Amino acid sequence: MAADNNHILIIGGGTAGWLSAAILAKSLNSKQETGVKVTLIESPDIPILGVGEGTWPNLRATLHKIGISETDFIRECDATFKQGAEFINWAKTPDPEQSHSYYHPLSTVSHSSYDFNLAPYWLQQDKNTRLPYDRAVASQARICDEGLAPKQIVMPEYSAAQEYAYHLNANKLAEFLKRHCIEKLGVNFVSANVTHIVLDDDEFITHVETDHDSIKKIDADFFIDCSGAKGLIIKETYNIAWHSISDVIFNDTALAVQVPYKDQNQAINTHTLATAQDAGWIWDIGLQNRRGVGHVYSSKYTTEQKAKQQLIDYLGDNYNDELMIRKINLNHGYHKKFWHKNSVAIGMSAGFVEPLEASAIFLFDAAANMVAAQFPRDKTKMKYAEQKFNQHLTMRMQRTVEFIKLHYCISQRRDSQYWIDNCDPASIPENLKQRLDFWKGQIPTKYDFENAWEPFNLDSYLYVLYGMGFETDVANLAAVYTDKVKAELLFSNIDKASEVLINKLPKQRELIEKVIQYGFSRV
Ligand SMILES: Cc1cc2nc3c(=O)[nH]c(=O)nc-3n(C[C@H](O)[C@H](O)[C@H](O)COP(=O)(O)OP(=O)(O)OC[C@H]3O[C@@H](n4cnc5c(N)ncnc54)[C@H](O)[C@@H]3O)c2cc1C
Repeated sequence: MAADNNHILIIGGGTAGWLSAAILAKSLNSKQETGVKVTLIESPDIPILGVGEGTWPNLRATLHKIGISETDFIRECDATFKQGAEFINWAKTPDPEQSHSYYHPLSTVSHSSYDFNLAPYWLQQDKNTRLPYDRAVASQARICDEGLAPKQIVMPEYSAAQEYAYHLNANKLAEFLKRHCIEKLGVNFVSANVTHIVLDDDEFITHVETDHDSIKKIDADFFIDCSGAKGLIIKETYNIAWHSISDVIFNDTALAVQVPYKDQNQAINTHTLATAQDAGWIWDIGLQNRRGVGHVYSSKYTTEQKAKQQLIDYLGDNYNDELMIRKINLNHGYHKKFWHKNSVAIGMSAGFVEPLEASAIFLFDAAANMVAAQFPRDKTKMKYAEQKFNQHLTMRMQRTVEFIKLHYCISQRRDSQYWIDNCDPASIPENLKQRLDFWKGQIPTKYDFENAWEPFNLDSYLYVLYGMGFETDVANLAAVYTDKVKAELLFSNIDKASEVLINKLPKQRELIEKVIQYGFSRV
């Protein structure tokens, strides 16, 4: 006989917990009598991690879908617009005379809309005179160079001239989503510690016990583990095996600091800066009234003292002794499965890959959307959803690890053991190794990406490969890619479009101030 899944309990109120609660409550109509009830329990004693400040455009779509006003979100989460990331000193050993940098912008490359790959034509241009790849194939790198916003104040909420995501204050985002979930989406909230997770004879969870004064036990049909690194269900209850990736991604520590702007009129970057160091890299994210800056490094290749000094040097006269530098240990990897019995892990509990491409919140969002879309109301149909979810998320984690590793393993830097070891073939995942080997003689095309749900697509790979100076043999390209006239026309159109955009888009701070004062027109 069919038994219904009618109540979901989420453990944890960090970014993963509240984002999942919002997506599930909205998608499964928690406010309706016939919908699925969603409860979130959060410890009043364990603070959220609160460091994820960079996002992807999917967050924009999610905020829109769950009924949040973009203006309110920007005002309340100190948010700014993000159009991609700039990678500084990744490709070559730093040269004090001329640092190397390239962008991985969020907008798709202009060729995507024509299904016409510009990369082979760019590769055939004169190396000494051609524009860098990111500037040749799209406008967004040039817009970021100018510190311009991706839209104008007259454009309605969530619409754009250029694809964009946000930089935000993670603690404020969790608070903001919490209010929205409780007030607008019908989520029940319990502030208490889960003290025990109770299983039946078949190891399905029946309920959790808490230290709340009156709510000693919460029954539910389905449980979501958003308890962060603790992994209350996935690790502590089910002890699901862990797949470490520390042999691929070497960084194991982060030092994070919040740096107020000296002058509140200071320009705000419209992209994340990622500056490579000799044993890691430094992120730099501009919010409305401060920057979030941090050094992610490998303790095998440097000391905490040296890493801290590099962070202080990077900050220059923006640093003072009153700023608190927070140390965070990073445990790279993911569980061998995420959905087990009547539970699923979303967030840090499921796994962690360093924040180089700010992919975590995207993965939480994707996971919560998948649970919502396939949520089996009939408990007897759970096995199928479990299988699909585990396959899907495993593929997303693997492909994320490969894309992050790409930034390291095609570098020409040999100035420290860290960079030398990062290029050791033994540290490169097999799928990435095969792709790179193939792309030495062949242009990457959409056919290299067999799964439509891969988190990083052809555009992303082309930006990083050719931004880093990856060599594809051009000898045979001319015979195959013969439509030079069309390519030249597209390159010239991109040039013209860039000029138009640069003339009409406002500076990031100017737009943020207008949003705070007037707001966008609501949709
Ligand atoms: C240095 C660094 C930089 C990052 N930068 C980015 C970035 O730019 N972009 C990005 O997308 N991601 C980034 N991430 C990753 C991501 O944002 C974090 O992994 C994320 O903040 C973790 O969120 P979470 O909700 O899974 O866990 P947490 O924030 O740790 O929340 C855990 C929750 O579980 C609750 N809890 C724990 N135990 C119990 C219990 N017994 N009972 C009840 N509640 C309990 C806690 O109270 C808390 O509410 C970064 C991560 C790091 C480490």
